[in-house]
Amino acid sequence: MTAPDRSGSNALPRSAELFERARRVLIEGSSSASRGPASFGTFPPYMIEGHGAHLRDADGNDYIDWMLCFGALPLGHAHASIVEAVTREIGRGAHFATATDVEVELAELLVSILPHVEKIRFTNTGTESVMLAVRLARGVTGRRKILKFEGHYHGWYDAVLLNSNPQLPTALGHQRDPIRLPDSSGLSTGSWKDTIVAPWNDIGAFEQAMAVHGREIACVIAEGVMANMGVIPPEPGYLDALQRLCQRHGALFCLDETVTGFRIAAGGAAELYGLNPDLVTYGKALGQGFPVAAVGGRAEIMDGLAWGKVMHYGSHNASRIGLVAALAGLRALLADNRAGFKALQLIGERMVMAIRHAIAGSRHAAIVQGVGSIFQLYFTDREKIADLRDYCSSVNARKFQRFATLLRSHGVFVNPSNTLHWMSCTAHSNDDIAATASAVAAALDQLEE
Ligand code: PLP
Repeated sequence: MTAPDRSGSNALPRSAELFERARRVLIEGSSSASRGPASFGTFPPYMIEGHGAHLRDADGNDYIDWMLCFGALPLGHAHASIVEAVTREIGRGAHFATATDVEVELAELLVSILPHVEKIRFTNTGTESVMLAVRLARGVTGRRKILKFEGHYHGWYDAVLLNSNPQLPTALGHQRDPIRLPDSSGLSTGSWKDTIVAPWNDIGAFEQAMAVHGREIACVIAEGVMANMGVIPPEPGYLDALQRLCQRHGALFCLDETVTGFRIAAGGAAELYGLNPDLVTYGKALGQGFPVAAVGGRAEIMDGLAWGKVMHYGSHNASRIGLVAALAGLRALLADNRAGFKALQLIGERMVMAIRHAIAGSRHAAIVQGVGSIFQLYFTDREKIADLRDYCSSVNARKFQRFATLLRSHGVFVNPSNTLHWMSCTAHSNDDIAATASAVAAALDQLEE
């Protein structure tokens, strides 16, 4: 493997050539805006291989990967347990048009480690899980409105595609009555007319929104840790208060664990913060890189799906090979008294400390926020970013994009969008942490204001 270009120029001739070809046949040369020039500024590095915590691009450069397929790889790339299980099972058929044994096994394992989950329905992506959870909540409560929080992203489903992007602070409106801002063209007003938006980490504002709309709200959907505006932890007691107010108003509390599930603890944010949500959505880390996602909850709620009363179909639901990978990965992480989950958090915390140390030795004003295995760096004068409004008014996301580009030239891969986050995997070694810390220090040194 070649060492990355340390001059900071990021000259990647093979990736540049692939991009030229790609943009003739793929929109922006990739398959999602967060993987193309909208995130990377120029063309993305085209990756060809991943092993453990490392990626290799088409030009032969090696990177320490802190993105890990947007969080889908808690064990890193090509983990032996996944490779073995998938290789063994693929020869027995990819997927069948009936129920399978592996879906029973995985559902049993999930129910055994998630005290708030009695029944599971498998889907393919976090977006699908959110669509299903919202429909189910509406179906079982008979109510139509839902409430989401500013800066929380729940996938690209129309009803929740509001107020999840950074905006000019003046566009956000009053904290107690946020202006609703669709994040995309192509949405009909009908698709989001029943969506209420509240600011995050402000229990007074939530109380007020529930006092006005509470009786009509089918579910309140929230990320337990806000992980799509960097990483913004909940204020102490905040999630508990949300849950209590939902109960008081008869609204279901739906925790979107697409990022946090099987990552910040085996049982995600619900376990870490001692919550008992009515519905939970999972994705990313569950599938170990395969498109596997799920909705879970108490039986009395989940049974709303029975006989298609609340309808949910899907040719690829519980796709056999994806579930084989999910089962193998979860077993590996749970082995030795959940050693894998503990290691994930420890590695994340050590990396955060090393980055803070590098910042302290630099001339830049920056902070790092994190919860265990997920974290993000913000260039800001503030001591803390507590919500979307703090982010929009004080975070220099352009500077982060330049920083991430410099980091790549030092052999460290993170997405240049400041709204995303870094993630650890069990394959990150002490050497990876030390090399990343050196790369951070070097990139900070080169970085201009
Ligand atoms: N919910 C959250 C909290 C997410 O972060 C995401 C994706 O980033 C989604 C839902 C959508 O998941 P997917 O990209 O698998 O559709």
